[in-house]
Amino acid sequence: MKEFLLGQAVEAVCGTYHGDEAALMKRVGGVVIDNRKVEPDFLFVPIKGERFDGHDFIPSAYEAGALACITERELETDKPYILVKDSLLAFQTLAEFYKGLFHVKTIGITGSVGKTTTKELVSSVLSQKYDVLKSEGNLNNQTGVPLTVFRLEDHHEIAVVEMGTNHFGEIRNLAKIARPDFCFLTNIGEAHIEHLGSKEGILEAKSEMLEYMKPGGRVFVNGDDPYLRTLKEARPDVTTFGKDPQNDIYAGEIESKGLGGSDFVIYTPDLKFPAHVPSPGGHMVYNALAAAAAGLALGMQPEEIRKGLAEYRTIAGRMCIETKNGITVLNDVYNANPGSMRAALDVLAYAEGGKVCVLGDMLELGDKAEQYHWELGAYAAKKADRVLCVGTLAQHIYTGAKEAGAEAFCFGTQDELLAKIWELVRKDDAVLVKASRGMQLEKTVEFLLK
Ligand code: ATP
Ligand code: MG
Repeated sequence: MKEFLLGQAVEAVCGTYHGDEAALMKRVGGVVIDNRKVEPDFLFVPIKGERFDGHDFIPSAYEAGALACITERELETDKPYILVKDSLLAFQTLAEFYKGLFHVKTIGITGSVGKTTTKELVSSVLSQKYDVLKSEGNLNNQTGVPLTVFRLEDHHEIAVVEMGTNHFGEIRNLAKIARPDFCFLTNIGEAHIEHLGSKEGILEAKSEMLEYMKPGGRVFVNGDDPYLRTLKEARPDVTTFGKDPQNDIYAGEIESKGLGGSDFVIYTPDLKFPAHVPSPGGHMVYNALAAAAAGLALGMQPEEIRKGLAEYRTIAGRMCIETKNGITVLNDVYNANPGSMRAALDVLAYAEGGKVCVLGDMLELGDKAEQYHWELGAYAAKKADRVLCVGTLAQHIYTGAKEAGAEAFCFGTQDELLAKIWELVRKDDAVLVKASRGMQLEKTVEFLLK
């Protein structure tokens, strides 16, 4: 952690300090919102969540050696603390202050889908030349972005920050903390349309990032997206990428290599070079183009960009493809909703041998859960040769698949499935495994790859 003092934190968050004057001159060792991560001289910021209130863990933070807490509650303690109205806001304001201590080039990534994938590809490319800090996993929300910022160290040259939203104002808030030099917008889809009203609304919400772009910054958007393309007409600092040759940077001669990914040629106004992205699906070409655009904007050579794209690896549990004993497993167990289930089934369709899917419950879908499961079953019937369903709601996937004419099977529990799985999965099959996190289907993945 770069050096700053408790007194500077008090000033940054405009809080009221309680404690001895000497502590104000002490260096803050780290800033955390999880009391289990407190180390000596750390600043603990308790946040109110849906299930827990971090303020209940203040005593344990002091026990672990916290220098101070930023709290909404008055404390009966002689330890230092900073009293604020809103601890989440204080956490974000402090992150903004901390970010301001650095001159690191910052890349902000938002959009309806493909943020994490783009973030990973951009990081993979830029790491070929620079020391890169990237958002961990999917940490893209109101606490995730500050947490990423607090991981910055002096040796970092670039920060790649994913920003997510489902309400107006959220991206603005995150961009104010991260202050991007480059803003990337992946696409405008239906995700979170419930709160944002329309696709125009979604475009507006995502574009909030541009309000806090550093002077002289640049915007990169998928120009094949009709909503994002409008930004190009409106602003001179926009570069578009896509498959359409009208884009500033585009991919031509795209050739699918099945589950192995895609080959294509990248065209820019003054360059042309071949590239490969080792992950299947046409959408990956867009994400790879975003990464190439970032590399080019930061002065990288085609060879470095090529290598960075080729070395891209998915995050654990996100469409990790592994073959063992003649079985190819498409491990996408990290989470599931109807949209991502369909996208994963589309990837399965790229496989060459028999196509099997093991689909489990999609949780938190509300009133229409059964219908969503049924519809997914009908979709799976078109993409897979055998549909294996596990869980309670997944019974409706089974019915949907069966009614659509698929060879389908259902199991109440994962153990019942595993007892029968070798009767249903054969050599040279590709097997997609996917469900909501709570279903813990990684057990099936491990079983298949044993
Ligand atoms: P979240 O909102 O959960 O953070 P995200 O925007 O980070 O999602 P990813 O995790 O990168 O999105 O991708 C989720 C899924 O969306 C992928 O598994 C893939 O099927 C699909 N996807 C990835 N990139 C794109 C893209 N550019 N266009 C359309 N779909 C995509
Ligand atoms: Mg994400």
